[in-house]
Amino acid sequence: MNSFEYAKPESLKDVFNFLNDPGTMVKGSGIDLLDMMKEGLIQPKRLVHLRSLKDLHFLNENSAGVTIGPNVTLDELSSHEKLKGRYQALAQAADAAATPQIRNAATLGGNLCQRPRCWYFRSHDFDCKRKGGKACFALDGENQYHAIFGNNGGCVIVHPSATATALMALGAKLKITSPKGEREISIDDFFVLPVKDIFRENILEANEIITAVTIPPAPGGYISYYYKQKEKQAFDWPVAEVAVGMQMNGKTCADARIVLGAAAPIPWRVPKAEAVLKNQTITRELARKAAEAAMTGATPLSENAYKIPVFKAVITRTICLAAGINPFE
Ligand SMILES: Cc1cc2nc3c(=O)[nH]c(=O)nc-3n(C[C@H](O)[C@H](O)[C@H](O)COP(=O)(O)OP(=O)(O)OC[C@H]3O[C@@H](n4cnc5c(N)ncnc54)[C@H](O)[C@@H]3O)c2cc1C
Ligand code: SF4
Repeated sequence: MNSFEYAKPESLKDVFNFLNDPGTMVKGSGIDLLDMMKEGLIQPKRLVHLRSLKDLHFLNENSAGVTIGPNVTLDELSSHEKLKGRYQALAQAADAAATPQIRNAATLGGNLCQRPRCWYFRSHDFDCKRKGGKACFALDGENQYHAIFGNNGGCVIVHPSATATALMALGAKLKITSPKGEREISIDDFFVLPVKDIFRENILEANEIITAVTIPPAPGGYISYYYKQKEKQAFDWPVAEVAVGMQMNGKTCADARIVLGAAAPIPWRVPKAEAVLKNQTITRELARKAAEAAMTGATPLSENAYKIPVFKAVITRTICLAAGINPFE
């Protein structure tokens, strides 16, 4: 691990002054960043400790919706009063991620911007395409946890962030700040597929940071749910995770967003499944039909076709649980 300077900013202005120097990176709690440094995958000259900025630690609700600062931890998200009921998918996703110790420290900003978990990417020994090399070792190698959608861009990672999956289902917006000012974008436009740019997972430029995440206000009848399927009961990454956000009119679904995590290099919306639910009464049978539709066009790799039936089950369960239907009968 390289030696580095550790900067504690007192304002956003300080952050951007520090970021002016090449080789500077922002740090939330450093869980992902320090992993990358210890493996020798990145060698920043300076880390800017964003968590020293109290202004980036907030969670409040007003007419614009629920707005969350990037320094809020996963543990805080998992139990926050404002994330019960309608917006529970985010609390459930945060609660299901990693371990209690990690959730106590991990920040929302860091969770959204963490790097891929592909084991070839994480090992210094494999100079794969995402690191500027010539080959994707997962394509013909150990790809059981890799993508079944969006895997035609030379890199077959799955996006690792549970909160991203939930926030996309909730239709969230991100405030991005740089020395030039602020812009707000839909989370739908934040993540980048390898086919577009294999070297990045999101649109952030070197001098840009996330300064707020907003979940738009939900009218009455809005419901959401997140469900994670792991290989083992103890803490684990998902083999499949699903988040849904549905605007209900009584028992009829007026509109839905269904997002798959651990399925593609970005959180993956499934419009064909959403269309199955639209203007229909939610039943177990309808949820199964949506799950079938969701898997249309999947392109599994040599070792991960098992994900298709797993996703079908998880999508069915998530829709049913959101609608208060027992999926196991
Ligand atoms: C054993 C283990 C199991 C895990 N399981 C899961 C899981 O199941 N689901 C899941 O989602 N995650 C999981 N994680 C990942 C973990 O949740 C993330 O590493 C953590 O959320 C990162 O948060 P952090 O604050 O430490 O980020 P950091 O490590 O500090 O930062 C991560 C990245 O985000 C950037 N960054 C941080 N804040 C901002 C900001 N405001 N704006 C722009 N960029 C920013 C940093 O520059 C860095 O590139 C697991 C991790 C471990 C070690
Ligand atoms: S999936 Fe992506 S990160 Fe993993 S080996 Fe292939 S190119 Fe590298």
